[in-house]
Amino acid sequence: MNARTNLIGLSPAEMKAALLDAGVDPKSVSMRVKQLWNWLYVHGARDFAAMTNLAKDFRALLEEKFTLARPEVVTEQISNDGTRKWLLRSGGQEFETVYIPESDRGTLCVSSQVGCTLNCRFCHTGTQKMVRNLTPAEILGQLFVARDSLGDWPSTAPGRKVTNIVMMGMGEPLYNFDNVKAALAIVMDGDGLALSKRRVTLSTAGVVPMIQRAGDEIGSSLAISLHAVRDEVRDVIVPINKKYKIAELLDACRTYPGASNARRITFEYVMLKGVNDSLADAKALVKLLKGIPAKINLIPFNPWPGAPYECSDWEQIEKFAEVVNRAGYASPVRTPRGRDIMAACGQLKSESVKLKAKDRIAEMEAARLAQMPG
Ligand code: SAH
Repeated sequence: MNARTNLIGLSPAEMKAALLDAGVDPKSVSMRVKQLWNWLYVHGARDFAAMTNLAKDFRALLEEKFTLARPEVVTEQISNDGTRKWLLRSGGQEFETVYIPESDRGTLCVSSQVGCTLNCRFCHTGTQKMVRNLTPAEILGQLFVARDSLGDWPSTAPGRKVTNIVMMGMGEPLYNFDNVKAALAIVMDGDGLALSKRRVTLSTAGVVPMIQRAGDEIGSSLAISLHAVRDEVRDVIVPINKKYKIAELLDACRTYPGASNARRITFEYVMLKGVNDSLADAKALVKLLKGIPAKINLIPFNPWPGAPYECSDWEQIEKFAEVVNRAGYASPVRTPRGRDIMAACGQLKSESVKLKAKDRIAEMEAARLAQMPG
């Protein structure tokens, strides 16, 4: 007996192929894909029984062959500032998602990998070894869990709670390009979840060769984790800089498809006491970004157990921000959110570790059995 396929995360073409494979009549398959797409991504249907406009025998077939599985919620924590963090489990691995409500928007911070390869020195996720890439279903599943929990369906309702998505959770999205691309295509699809590309931001530590492709093929907004203005400093705190230097990174930004004054690239800059927070650094930052349609986001460093850095003093952040402000960048400091539940930028980490091959196979088999019908 075969495991059931999760419909969440399949492209329309993949869904069509899966339905045909399950024996759906080729004459009606395109219509079926449209109907299912609407149930999945507009209504967030959790089971096939709810799909009342579909014939009973078709629903029975769906039930037999497919699932609408979300990642399992291990814990849900709510910060005293309203930020929520979910620890999720899927395919034997754990990863985190964070919802940040603000007066004019609600942002979901989504993970792309379990662990990370980059080892940025100030980032908690960087202390967790890379375990694996998340699948499109797992990336999208984070949005599904959040919207289920927030009662945030249907997608077409006014006043939706999750209005923005940032790929700023665990992992480097440009090292999981295909899955992130597949998931974001569904997020931005006008007939479903329908978040506009302005409300979807992909953040990268600077995988330069993938930036142009991200613009061409994903088309979301872009954020760059810059964090330093000199290669000597960036080499240490964002080690991918040893491979792709600041100048190359900024060149890729200059030619990022779709960037304009109306659609700026966000430059994230974590404020590390005595490391990158001098006024000379602030001036150099402004100078470096000249000619790039940019927003600057100063992020007060969020501490975690054993972190080798401290957050810059508040007065220093204000002085730094003033230099940036005077150069024409408005409100550049990001308010820390959810620190009390370790949900703030760079605090995410799960207990998942990379398994030996034989344990991985056993785990996959267990997951497969758990998915079997009946
Ligand atoms: N790998 C991608 C996606 C992660 S985004 C990237 O690097 O852009 C997470 C953001 O939070 C990045 O800008 C990251 O540099 C920043 N960050 C990491 N640790 C932090 C910490 N302890 N305090 C504040 N910001 C942090």
